[in-house]
Amino acid sequence: MVKKENVKRNTFEVNTDPEYVWKSGEILKYTDASFPLSMLGWSSINMVFEGIRGYYNKSDDQIYILHLNEHLSRFMESMKMMRMHPFASPDELKAVIIDLIKLNKYKEDIYMQPLGYFGDGPPGFLASGERKGDMTIMVKPIDSLLNSDNMLNVNVSSWRRISDDVMPPRIKTIANYQNSRYVAEEAKLNDYDQSLILNNQGKVSESTYTCVFMVKNEKLITPNVTSGILDSITRKSIIELARNELGLKVEEREIDRTEFYVADESFICGTGGEIQFIGKIDGYVISEKPGNISKEIQNLYHNIVRGVDKRYNHWRTKTF
Ligand code: PMP
Repeated sequence: MVKKENVKRNTFEVNTDPEYVWKSGEILKYTDASFPLSMLGWSSINMVFEGIRGYYNKSDDQIYILHLNEHLSRFMESMKMMRMHPFASPDELKAVIIDLIKLNKYKEDIYMQPLGYFGDGPPGFLASGERKGDMTIMVKPIDSLLNSDNMLNVNVSSWRRISDDVMPPRIKTIANYQNSRYVAEEAKLNDYDQSLILNNQGKVSESTYTCVFMVKNEKLITPNVTSGILDSITRKSIIELARNELGLKVEEREIDRTEFYVADESFICGTGGEIQFIGKIDGYVISEKPGNISKEIQNLYHNIVRGVDKRYNHWRTKTF
């Protein structure tokens, strides 16, 4: 049996509203940041976003924002692909994020979500013609799963991953998560925690909101960036740590589902999802407890992102 220990609240179940948010150039009370009802619906078709984490380090009394520059530049790329002109520059957004953390008086782990969208005008299914997008930023407290040894029970979804020629997964747009939701509903109905999703070529792409890794014969293997994945910042960080700090060989390539069935270890990764171990895939036991390599990666990643390990200083933006 795969054991479920130290299960924490799911990342996205934490729902503590902030006191202050930012909307189209203004800091507002959360309760004053309203939208016209006419915007509900079409505005989310083209909505792009980022999910960014900040880790509180008690002994430094510091919130370290993880890969802030990389997230903001992916945000800009999502807008470019969506033909949306940004309302504000990455430097302006950076300053707003830091202001919001201070104004909300956070001294804990946090999650930051900038949104870019077309607020008004023609319905979202019509060409937008390089319009300027509106923006909001919300920051909320969140739990970290990075010390958890929970083993996920995973299936291979019967749904296929969206593809670059249909709904490009490279764009971090809300609309793409309709695909994730179908996958998540199927997993829930069948009592799985998460799913691997195959792309149109029948190769493994990613999970609903994370990328995936497997370990085989001490080698780390992950689907390449043209396998129908979001070009994940956590995935890149793990590859960097594995090569440079653990001396591991890393392969980025197409992966068959059956390779995962006979993997020595496997885990999912993402900013929100962090690093979570896979115990079983379609009933095949991968490992009963966290594998040595996966656990080492999780520990190393945790210590660096929380600033316990002071290396990789450029990954962390200080808030105070
Ligand atoms: N894939 C999908 C579909 C995601 O939503 C996420 C989370 N942003 C990831 C992968 C992981 O990306 P990142 O490491 O940049 O958070």
